[in-house]
Parts: sequence; C-alpha cells; structure tokens
Amino acid sequence: MTVRITQQAAPLKSAALERLDSVMLFIPEKKLAGDWSGFPATQVLKNRLTRAGERAAHDKPLVTDLPNRAGTRVSLSVLPQHASGFALLDLVRQHVQQQLAFGACHIGVAAPGLVAAEFEPLIEALTAAILAANAQMPDYRSAKSSRKKPSPRTLQLQFFGVTRQVDLARTRAEAEGNALARTLTITPPNELTPALYRRRIAALAREHGWRMRFLDSRALKRKHAGAFLAVAQGSASDDAGIIELSYQPAKRTRAPALCLVGKGICFDTGGVNVKPARYMQGMHEDMEGSAVALGTLLALTRLRAPFPIKCWLALAQNHIGPRAYKPTDVVTASNGTTIEVVHTDAEGRMVLADTLALASREEPALIIDYATLTGSCVAALGTAYSGAITNRDALREEIIAAGRASGERVWPFPFDPDYDKALESRIADIKQCTLDSEADHILAARFLSRFVGETPWVHIDLSAGNHKGGLAHIPTDVTGFGVRFTLNLLLDRKVMDKLAA
Ligand SMILES: [Zn+2]
Repeated sequence: MTVRITQQAAPLKSAALERLDSVMLFIPEKKLAGDWSGFPATQVLKNRLTRAGERAAHDKPLVTDLPNRAGTRVSLSVLPQHASGFALLDLVRQHVQQQLAFGACHIGVAAPGLVAAEFEPLIEALTAAILAANAQMPDYRSAKSSRKKPSPRTLQLQFFGVTRQVDLARTRAEAEGNALARTLTITPPNELTPALYRRRIAALAREHGWRMRFLDSRALKRKHAGAFLAVAQGSASDDAGIIELSYQPAKRTRAPALCLVGKGICFDTGGVNVKPARYMQGMHEDMEGSAVALGTLLALTRLRAPFPIKCWLALAQNHIGPRAYKPTDVVTASNGTTIEVVHTDAEGRMVLADTLALASREEPALIIDYATLTGSCVAALGTAYSGAITNRDALREEIIAAGRASGERVWPFPFDPDYDKALESRIADIKQCTLDSEADHILAARFLSRFVGETPWVHIDLSAGNHKGGLAHIPTDVTGFGVRFTLNLLLDRKVMDKLAA
C-alpha cells in the first residue's frame, strides 16, 4: 500500500476535519489549559479529558469521536516537554495502531501550540511509525483466514499547521531498510536457506547497483577460513558462504570506506550441543544481523551516501549431522588463529571470525557488525536495548547518543583485555567460549576482536532484535533493530570523520 504524506501550513479547521477519517491530536503539556490555537471542538475535547481523569491522554492516547457530522475519530495525547527519541516513537506507534485498527485511510495530524522545532521530531516520528506499520510482512495465512484483513490501497497522512516543511527522505530510506530487514528475518527457514537468501540478495544487488561476489566453500577453503567452514560442514547442502557487496558513490571519492558485517545463520539448531525445543523456537531469526546490515546498506544507497561501503554477509546454517563440528575440535581461521571449539551453539562468532578477518584486510575506516550473538546480552539488557562493544573508547559516548536520538537504544559494555584470561586455551591460540555463565557477550567480543586487528570497530549484539509486542515505532516482534541507530551514528554524529581526524 502507498503512503501519501502531505504537510500544509494551514491549521486544521472544521471544514477540513469533515473530510478526514480521523485525527491524531497532540497538545503540549504547557498548553493544555490554553486555547489550542483555534482547533475545532476544543471545548468538547477538554470536557472529555476532564471526565477521563487527571492522567488522561498522558500515558496512552485518549480515543474519542467528535460530535460533528462525520463523527471524526480523534486520538489525543498530551506531549511531555522533553520526550526522548524512544518515548516519542513509542507514543506515536500507539496512535498509529489505534487509527489503523479503526480502519482510517485518511488521517490528519494537528499539534496546535507546538513551535516548528517541536513539531519536526513529531512529524518525523509519525512518518516512521506509519511507514513501519504499513510495511507488508510475510504472511502465509490463506485468503480464507478470517484474521487476514484486506488493506486499503492508499494511506494518507496529512499534517496541518506545518510552517517549515520537514524533509522525510531519510525517514523513508530508514523505513525501507528496516522493512527489508524485518521481512527477511520473519521469512521461515525453509523459504530462506542460504541458497535462497543468496538469490534474493543477488536480485537486490542488481536492483540497487551493488557489485556482488560470493565466496563459496571452495573459495573459503582456499582462504583457509576454517572457522566459518567448521559451522558450514554440518549442512547436507553445500550452500553456505560469505557474500561481499560493494557500493560506490556516484562521484569518485577518496572518502574512507565503511564496512558492514552481518551474521546470517539461517537456522540454528545449536549443532551437536543441540538446543532444547524452547530455545530452538524462532531460530530462523538468527540471520537478523545480516538482514540489518543489508537494510542499512539499502538505506545508505537510497540516500546516495558519499562514501564507499562494503557489506559482508556470513550465510550458513548450524546443523546436526555426522559431519557437524564438535566440542574440542581445533580449527584454523583465515588469519592463522587456531580456535579450540567449546560449544557448537556459539557458531555466530565462528562464522564472523573469518568474515571479520576478510573484511578488515581491506582496512576500512570503520567496521560495524550486527549479530544476534549472545543470550548473556539479553540477560544483561533485556530486549529493549541492544548491546555494543567497540575497540575505540571515543565511540562509547557516540553510541549512547545515537541510541538516545534515534530511539533505537544501544548500551556499551567494557572491552578490557583482562577478560581474555577466560579464553586461554591449552591446545590452541584461543578458546571459542567458556562453559561457565560468565559475561559471554563481552567474551564473544574479545574473541571477535582477534579477527579485526587495529581497524576501528563497533560490534552490535542485537538483544533487541525481537521484542514482544514491538519496540519504539515498530509494531512487530521482529524489530529489524539497527538501521535507524546506524544512520544516526554515521550521518548525524559523523563518527567516520571523527575517527579519521
Ligand atoms: Zn547458536
């Protein structure tokens, strides 16, 4: 369905109100007792607010129908003075859900009493939420299913009283990248094997002008990528491999290159250390990191990013079988590091080890990797935040700030070298992990850092990749978390320029 968004200077008056299905109305806290700048039916709404009680429209929208001819549906919120990026996205998602459940196709938005600088973030957030809600996710229910609702052709979102037009190109690009990430992640694993995934990526590469190279198991053997191949060897089908996508800006540039890396485990049984049923459920989502890397590349391509980008995706499945790798195996990664395998369910760091080693050989200005990597990151943060670990101290504050502003919140963890003691092996250079419930998200990052070398690096452990009931502006459990955060980090905080300086 197309979403048409218009911004007009005129305030919302009674005549225009009659033409809308519904209205989302936002009143700043400090203007609640004021005159709402001539919004129609102000007194009616004020009376209903009073009747609904003191905290009405504060924590969730007040939903009511106006006594006009059209009986216009209104969802009303009192806007707190300093809402965080997350709080604003969370609030507007509630409005969007109310309106779409009501079946509204032509929705007006008014925020009487907000000055332009306050209205802009609201317009941006509402656009993000409506685009996220509108994105069609994979749905295999047959047309007979009563729960499958037909959707209207066009959804119109009309902002009133906009004195300064807001450029929404970035929001649209982020929404497109996020929708791609969610779509791929939700797709069932029989529909998204490494071979099928590669075919979809090839189609995207043709569409968006990315150069694509695929390193299959033969090519990886030549590169001595023993860590990746240890995981891949358990699959009956020889379809695992590492994809390299390249984006070049239209204008030739000497700008330093960005490198995105993603974990793409299309299904994770745990391997020989097989997962119990409860933990294997949903393990087709273990490729979300690769989908987020891909979605980020798509958003940056749409915005014609002025720097070159490489995107490396490690596609494999973690299977059980006679050829599957085992605990206590010792394998050699492409940078020569020998690894003592401890637990086959820690396959993410194995496939990423070789992928990061290959990516860092090209000495990009910054590597960002995304992976649904550790349960301990979920234990530490829950699923409302994702974790980050970086080998550059200066980036920690930037990560927190980018999370706060984008509404995709990320919290950094320590990266001190003394954590390495836990990974000392008697037989190899490093242990893959430990069997103790130590801070595995930190140990995983320490392990991965062996393959990154000195390249500036941010590792995102996607604990917020699945959040029950949705998160911020995203209405689905699968969040596609990371695209918005990364664009903030790169485009608003310009961390690549800061690293180069
Ligand atoms: Zn695993």
